[in-house]
Amino acid sequence: MRVLVTGANRGLGLALSKAALERGHTVLACARNGAQPDGSLQNLSRQYPNQIFLIELDVSDEKSVEMAAAKVSENWESIDAIINNAGVLYERDAKIEELDFSLLELTMNVILYGPMRVIKHFLPLLYKGTNQIIINISSDAGSIATAYGGDYPYAISKTALNMFTKQIKHYVSDKNINVYAIHPGWIRTDMGGEKAPGSPEETANNLVDILEKKKVIDDELFFIKHNGEPMK
Ligand code: NDP
Repeated sequence: MRVLVTGANRGLGLALSKAALERGHTVLACARNGAQPDGSLQNLSRQYPNQIFLIELDVSDEKSVEMAAAKVSENWESIDAIINNAGVLYERDAKIEELDFSLLELTMNVILYGPMRVIKHFLPLLYKGTNQIIINISSDAGSIATAYGGDYPYAISKTALNMFTKQIKHYVSDKNINVYAIHPGWIRTDMGGEKAPGSPEETANNLVDILEKKKVIDDELFFIKHNGEPMK
């Protein structure tokens, strides 16, 4: 499969790119800053020179997404998977009385509008692919069923992302494209912190199983855990 991953330079995006490469897939690894100081993407690039392609893409900037889509279509006719992984976490503990709306806007711009921009510009390429799938990396924080008081920007943007995921699932329903919002678990990344119980590698491998349709997932489900279990 030819898999496009956003935020591929660290955390889950990097682990996911590695897991997909190890299973023989081609990865279009998108990162907003191109070369990263720790060189992790460059290392993968050296290891899998014919399988990974680095693409500059800032999900918060529509021009950047448009240019990335143009670059991809210059080189390939199609993609088979879009993984909207890029995310930010601001105002974790802010009370509603203290909320900084500029950070709420920034969060929505990455977590919600980012995947919307990516799908807007990459859908024509996805339509030409095979066994297509869209995965929007969501969070249990976005679950209305288990909502708690706090994490306003992050939780609200993930809930809205779940809504958008369901809308896109309907929109492409006649094209046999799988569409999911997936909670990756609490995992050890810069965002999740060192105390998180889960490893990005385990989640990444489960996500590649979902890409490869190795997990049986009910057709009606759109919000799931990385192991395929339903979320509400
Ligand atoms: P990290 O903070 O480790 O990595 C975030 C990634 O998103 C980085 O690659 C970052 O790039 C990228 N990014 C942020 N803003 C943009 C942008 N404007 N354009 C392009 N890329 C951007 O987070 P995780 O790897 O933990 O998170 C991955 C996903 O999983 C996120 O959607 C997150 O919300 C979700 N998630 C994570 C959980 C966890 O426990 N870790 C739990 C639940 C959900 P850069 O290096 O340039 O900043």
